[in-house]
Amino acid sequence: MSFALLGLDLSLLKVIDSLDYKKPYPIQQKAIPAILEKNDILGIAKTGSGKTACYVLPILQGLQSMVKEKNRNVSALIIVPTRELAAQVEEVFRQFSAYLPNPIKTMAVYGGVSINPQMKALYGVNVLIATPGRLIELADSKAVHLSLVSTLVIDEADKMLNLGFKDEMDKIFSLLPSVRQNLLFSATLNKGVDKINRVLLTNPVVIKIEEEEDNIDQIKQVAYSVSEEVKGPLLRYLLTKLKDYQVLVFTSSTRKADNVGHKLRKNGIPCEAIHSKKSQGARTAALREFKAGRLKVLIATDLLSRGIDIDTLPFVINYELPRSPKDYIHRIGRTGRAEAIGEAISFITNADRHHFKTIQKKMGKWVTMINSDSLSLP
Ligand code: AMP
Repeated sequence: MSFALLGLDLSLLKVIDSLDYKKPYPIQQKAIPAILEKNDILGIAKTGSGKTACYVLPILQGLQSMVKEKNRNVSALIIVPTRELAAQVEEVFRQFSAYLPNPIKTMAVYGGVSINPQMKALYGVNVLIATPGRLIELADSKAVHLSLVSTLVIDEADKMLNLGFKDEMDKIFSLLPSVRQNLLFSATLNKGVDKINRVLLTNPVVIKIEEEEDNIDQIKQVAYSVSEEVKGPLLRYLLTKLKDYQVLVFTSSTRKADNVGHKLRKNGIPCEAIHSKKSQGARTAALREFKAGRLKVLIATDLLSRGIDIDTLPFVINYELPRSPKDYIHRIGRTGRAEAIGEAISFITNADRHHFKTIQKKMGKWVTMINSDSLSLP
């Protein structure tokens, strides 16, 4: 199946070609034609499956034939759980808009930054990508009107619910017109997501992509048995060995992320830490540097384990294990994206052993364990 058979306009096919996408991913093969036909969609797929293009391409195509008056009404609304995902989705819209005959104005809004510039810039926006809290503030202050939204996308619905955005989402839904197209994407179909599905969607086309399991086969996994005190030297040892590659290091708390970053820098290894307690400016800058390949080592909490797409990231290190097996899979899924090969390395202390066994059982894969005593660590 080629992209040309999905019903997309030439201007979009041209961008797809320039991005060197050879063929549509499974979710794209099913979702793009269904969305172009104005169906509601329930897509169970995680980041890495190609779900963003599923809605970005048909939305841009649909807006080409709509008369766009300049005002504060937006036509397409994409609700996302995090600022990082908002910025990333905006980037995908920009990318795919490159050759459109009728330009589309896209904007991402999120909290943690000043609201006034956003209010001003919202004039004339066609596609709005927003985190729930800031969207409500902007709608309440009449900087944006949602009553003419023709397509609503809820991306990472499960994460949105996990972050406690249920009430905000209900409020947003009440501001939307009753007739519209609804596209709901979620990594999992849990009770909460199914409830949104039943309340919001009309006869949706349901697409379920078991990407996580597929993806995992491409990721080489190893684990080091290590004591808490030796984690630092082991990390430095590995980062020195991997100095030509980009590495994403996960910790389970913001304090630990800062600590690890501080120690690495003290030992001459440049790195940045990114987590919810950092300012938005610092988060954006670190992520930008990392994505551009200028920053080799990024330390992150689980804030980044989902939703952030970093092209061809070869190594992920779990300095600390996440609590849930699902988060483990999401973390290691940051590597081995888009059919690239990746490697995930986990540090396992005695206290982690039982938990790591549970993770492996859930994943259905056993991970090679290396004793860190056998290494000559710094
Ligand atoms: P997403 O799940 O939307 O975050 O996409 C994951 C990654 O796959 C992104 O880097 C996309 O640029 C890339 N991608 C999406 N669709 C395709 C495709 N059909 N062929 C190659 N890469 C793709």
